[in-house]
Amino acid sequence: SPDQPMTTQEVVEWTKKLNYGTWRYQKSWNPMHIVDAEGCYFTDANGKRYLDFSAQLMCSNLGHKNAAVIKAIADQAQKLAYIMPSYATDARVELSRLLLEVLPEGITKFFFTTSGTEANEAAFKIARMYTGKTKIIARYRSYHGSTMASIAATGDPRRWAMEPGGKGQGFLFAPEVNCYKCPIKHTYPECGIACADYLEHMIENESDVAAVIVEPVVGTNGVLVPPKEYFPKLREICDRRGVLLIADEVMSGWGRTGEWFAVDHWGVKPDILVTAKGITSAYVPLGLCATTGKIAEYFEDHFFAHGHTYEAHPITLAPAVAAIREMQRLNLINRAKEVGAYLGEKLKALKPKHPSIGEVRGLGMFWAIELVRDQEKKTPFNTKQDKVDGKATVVDQVAAEMLKRGVSIQAWISHFVIAPPLIIEKAEIDTAVDALDQALAIADKAL
Ligand code: PLP
Repeated sequence: SPDQPMTTQEVVEWTKKLNYGTWRYQKSWNPMHIVDAEGCYFTDANGKRYLDFSAQLMCSNLGHKNAAVIKAIADQAQKLAYIMPSYATDARVELSRLLLEVLPEGITKFFFTTSGTEANEAAFKIARMYTGKTKIIARYRSYHGSTMASIAATGDPRRWAMEPGGKGQGFLFAPEVNCYKCPIKHTYPECGIACADYLEHMIENESDVAAVIVEPVVGTNGVLVPPKEYFPKLREICDRRGVLLIADEVMSGWGRTGEWFAVDHWGVKPDILVTAKGITSAYVPLGLCATTGKIAEYFEDHFFAHGHTYEAHPITLAPAVAAIREMQRLNLINRAKEVGAYLGEKLKALKPKHPSIGEVRGLGMFWAIELVRDQEKKTPFNTKQDKVDGKATVVDQVAAEMLKRGVSIQAWISHFVIAPPLIIEKAEIDTAVDALDQALAIADKAL
């Protein structure tokens, strides 16, 4: 009866019957029933606790049940839950002024959305309106979101289902920076950053290029950290060729890499910075498309043709202020650097023990372990096609084994993305790395 609480079996069955499970064949969806979360842990309906080694979708940076963020949500709901975005609110001004403190210098005008993908849509439209040009160059190993333009800019195979008919116009792909497996078969540093030269070659040979969009440290597609020369070179190319540089910091922002934003590692200032996830530590859905003052000036006397009902929604903004202040109070940027270095050392120590590990790479609290069938040839266990065909990949099998051992980890095609809440303790890292050490036996056996 409706008065009786549902059993876990009922919750799972109703969920599967009435909802879509994303990025999968529906029949393969068997969701766990989660009832609670605190700090770096979440708890299922049987009372089993899981240590979250990937901060959910690399977004719960502050961990769960942060009292200050929860209070900010409740207070804002009491005070002013919603007002349309054409009005001024305290919450929007407070957050915007705080953003000026933490974003790269020169990024001074803000448009708030409720997701990363919408923030990228805004970036593409702003770039096109501002430049009067159309084409956007992205890179193959990338994810920029699921809505029509963002998926068209996504290099990874999540784009394939939308091709060719549904693919947005004007999106092109350059090779990614991946010094472990260079897509254009060069070797760093002798290459002189040939992947950036290739990108310039594309701009030179295409007409009508408005912008280049990059994840400064690639996230889901394997925590690819560019060599130090890449970003200064890309900035110089974009300046010389009159093309905007969009930094998609949806995942890499908010301390994840040990700086407020990944571009801060190279002192490079993008024209547009897009972010979401960690801006509220995922307590409420908020995305941000932030531009330079120069771009903002253009719209003083040109029509800004964009907006949403839920743009700058007060309940999304007030907790962002609280979340950023908590990051400052807890000194989480430095913590991500220091505890992240410990995490990196622990993960690197796994490599000599496991023939299935190809590379351990990352920075801050942002790491990937890429698995291979053959360390010499760097042959992956699974292909992108396996992923879109819904096959159980080796990394998925290892992740399932870790879950049995009480640790949650994100896996994608042939690597894990390890990005715990920035509050994680060293002892918790030890526990999670031990579970990974044990679970990797599955991959070692599959060689
Ligand atoms: N951009 C990057 C780099 C991402 O990692 C993601 C999500 O994982 C997105 C954009 C899309 O953000 P959202 O899922 O909030 O739409």
